[in-house]
Amino acid sequence: MNMKVTFLLAVGATALTNLPVQPVQAQFGSEPTELELIQLNDDMYVISNVAVPGLVTVLVTDDGVLLVDDKFEIDHDNIMAMVRSVTDQPVKYVINTHYHGDHSGGNAKLQALNAVAVASDQARVRMVAANQPGRPDLTFPDSASIYIGGKTVELHRVNPAHTDGDVVVLFPDYDVLASGDIFANGPGTSAQLVDRNGGGSAKSWPSAVEQALELEFETVVPGHGLISTRADLEAYLERTIRFREVLNELVSQGRSRAEIEQVVRADFAWEDFHVTMALDGLIEEFE
Ligand SMILES: [Zn+2]
Repeated sequence: MNMKVTFLLAVGATALTNLPVQPVQAQFGSEPTELELIQLNDDMYVISNVAVPGLVTVLVTDDGVLLVDDKFEIDHDNIMAMVRSVTDQPVKYVINTHYHGDHSGGNAKLQALNAVAVASDQARVRMVAANQPGRPDLTFPDSASIYIGGKTVELHRVNPAHTDGDVVVLFPDYDVLASGDIFANGPGTSAQLVDRNGGGSAKSWPSAVEQALELEFETVVPGHGLISTRADLEAYLERTIRFREVLNELVSQGRSRAEIEQVVRADFAWEDFHVTMALDGLIEEFE
């Protein structure tokens, strides 16, 4: 099994940036990716893939385990091995922060273990439309709470950003927020990927981050990248506002696609993947 378990008691970006650089692999779920287990506090862990960090948040209680996001189906066995390395408790819930396969691909296998999959109404609609397996068992329009093992887990749907069904998950007992992909932070992950076909919006993205910042937390587990702080998310809000301003200006000036591509690459860390996936939709939104 291509897996390595590391317990890091010191939480933070430094722990992750010290990891050896691995060749990029399994970026799109075609093979299992190498995982790391990071301890966040007494009861919480983050499972990160080493190559292209996409983060699973784990809450362990005396009455079962709750996961936020579950990567691709092919990562399921390795994720469960990580969970089993810290607890024998069953996985009772998995929350999908949005419909994308790298956040919901493990649902069917977890449901087969009697876990309940939870997502926003809109995320489920997207999963049905895309004919994805492992559809959520339980959905909600705006917000919901899960009570497990004496702990509270709050789910808040935010305005359209990465998609139109984005959910942030608050762990008030621990001052931790799992943000999903409305926030990514760290090398190779920080570009704002707007899934226009999935209802995402660069125009309302800043308001989604503001909604998240209305909640009380100190630590943020982004959808991708490094474990971050509230201050990192505040800085990211400024970046989303600047992104919107720049796009608005470029499009209203009638700049060409090539010119806009140059700016998002140079100033907003867009790479080939983002350009291919999202540039046309982005321009369309501002036209
Ligand atoms: Zn996504």
